Amino acid sequence: MKKYKIVLLSGDGIGPEISEVSKKVLKKLSKYHNFDIEIIEELFGGIAYEKYGSPAPDKTLDQCKKSDAVLLACVGDIKYDSLARELRPESGLLKLRSALNLFANIRPVKIRKSLLDSSTLKKEIVEHVDLIVVRELIGGIYFGKPRGHITDTKIPKAFNTMVYDSAEIERITEIAIKIANQRNKKICSVDKSNVLEVSQLWRDTVLNITSKDKNISLSNMYVDNAAMQLVRDPGQFDVILTSNLFGDILSDLAAMLTGSIGMLPSASLNNDGPGVFEPVHGSAPDIAGKNIANPIAMLLSASMMLKIGLNEEEAAENLETAIDKVLSKGFRTADLADGFSEVLSCSEIGDKIMDEI
Ligand code: NAD
Repeated sequence: MKKYKIVLLSGDGIGPEISEVSKKVLKKLSKYHNFDIEIIEELFGGIAYEKYGSPAPDKTLDQCKKSDAVLLACVGDIKYDSLARELRPESGLLKLRSALNLFANIRPVKIRKSLLDSSTLKKEIVEHVDLIVVRELIGGIYFGKPRGHITDTKIPKAFNTMVYDSAEIERITEIAIKIANQRNKKICSVDKSNVLEVSQLWRDTVLNITSKDKNISLSNMYVDNAAMQLVRDPGQFDVILTSNLFGDILSDLAAMLTGSIGMLPSASLNNDGPGVFEPVHGSAPDIAGKNIANPIAMLLSASMMLKIGLNEEEAAENLETAIDKVLSKGFRTADLADGFSEVLSCSEIGDKIMDEI
């Protein structure tokens, strides 16, 4: 029997509620598909800061490095916003991504037929949406140096640096090519090369690497146009390849095409070693502790973990089919309520999904 060791980071806010559902589902899938899954729970985010004075304690990072995969819920709360930047939960995320060298963030955005009416956009605009955002995750402006505040000026000043070298762009482009080759072989690279030197290097490097694969059709788009096109005609996209900052913004925009940010999973990967699988959403402090969060983004992240991280394709398929069945029977969490469906709590919809596995 295959044995896997995964680390579960429940984090903050709605994290523990959606993690509870994921744990139960993974245990059931492991029995059904005949593999053993050891789930090691570690503190991460605000809760880790409370206990250890760091949002990403060494013990947590060590366990993650030794695991087969990491399943992360979400971190953050307004109460940590006044802490020094390196102590905030969000800095823990950056530290984890750096520690595991997770340079590629993969965010699939696919409309589930039963949720066509949940999008804020018209049905005919979203019905063919099936795209993947491939975002560079450990470079660009979030990590660029120098950064900081300038205090010896008359008025406060602060600055960050958007920087990439061609090797960083090459490796994320290779990932986009690999994914595009499993799909429609279309890559749209998004940048701001009409204004930024770093984007010009991005564009030149992406062209150089993709031109070596004759199967790939490459297009380029400025980020402002990409934001507009994602709302105007999202069905035109297949694989969107972009940098850290632009990917952060565009993937949240793309998330809303599906109806709720509570539906979107992601995977953060490197070329070897464990990946981190996590929902796109944050800790949703406004609904934390109410048992009303949508656990499906985390379940779909668990599905990506099964498929990409553990090679348990059948278990992943089983889980996705179970989710689709529950949604098509008209069960929803509050974020997807449409006035017709039956609204269930986080744990109740989790139980319905368990029943379909
Ligand atoms: P958010 O994603 O937490 O919430 C935005 C809105 O979406 C809220 O109204 C929330 O209730 C709703 N929402 C989010 N997930 C949901 C779910 N599963 N089910 C139902 N509704 C859901 O974003 P925010 O409010 O900007 O940030 C809250 C905190 O989360 C902040 O501290 C932020 O820094 C942090 N954050 C963490 C991550 C992460 O852990 N990867 C990502 C983004 C934001």
